[in-house]
Amino acid sequence: MAETLLAICGLKAFYGDFQALFGVDLELGAGEVLALIGANGAGKSTLLKAITGLVPCSSDMVLLRGEPIGGERPDRIARRGIALVPEGRRLFRSLSVEENLVIGGERAKPGRWTLDAVYQLFPILGERRRRPGTALSGGQQQMVAIGRALMANPDIILFDEISLGLAPVVIKDIYAALRPIAATGVSIILVEQDVSRALGVAKTFVCLQEGKVSLAGRPAEHDRAAITAAYFGMH
Ligand code: ATP
Repeated sequence: MAETLLAICGLKAFYGDFQALFGVDLELGAGEVLALIGANGAGKSTLLKAITGLVPCSSDMVLLRGEPIGGERPDRIARRGIALVPEGRRLFRSLSVEENLVIGGERAKPGRWTLDAVYQLFPILGERRRRPGTALSGGQQQMVAIGRALMANPDIILFDEISLGLAPVVIKDIYAALRPIAATGVSIILVEQDVSRALGVAKTFVCLQEGKVSLAGRPAEHDRAAITAAYFGMH
């Protein structure tokens, strides 16, 4: 495995008295794609929120290059190089494609991701650079959301429900972009309902069930029945 970039160690997370995560562990190497799978309510979004500082946790439960960052403010975690592409995209709908992308690059550290690089990855966005967010299809909006995250030149991108509600043909385009992104050294955690698709692109996966890791490893190490059982909780 590549050098560990992000390590989650015994992560517990709570909403008030309700415990959503019970000691979750995972490791993400530089330039790797990790699929985070699990049924509704398993705790996938909560894990992403804990990594990005939106749900509290202890500092030593999230290590970035060995440094404890758990519980830091979301803006500080973002500046450390962790970007989130949220479920539902959340673009500034009155702004143009290009303005949305530029916002992602504000206060970014310098790096290879520029407007031109994003337009090379998603040529349709270059063609529609002056259009408002409202004039785009769902898939194009997802491309803008991905481009906006890339403009920050992050080391890690977290995708929450990357293909939810998108047409199959667009999902293919979005997935085709993941390998080139990872090839530039960006690590990816992918939360996805479509398990086959996610495992097809991921080097490793973690399956959550009721807030605990029910199975983890490389997709090829486990047969489909074991993954299905870990997903649905049949033992
Ligand atoms: P989904 O695929 O439905 O988004 P998930 O795997 O992302 O599911 P989470 O959204 O992380 O699951 O939810 C994990 C648990 O935490 C669930 O039982 C959920 O009801 C609970 N939960 C999530 N958000 C909150 C909240 N704001 N307040 C209280 N409980 C919450």
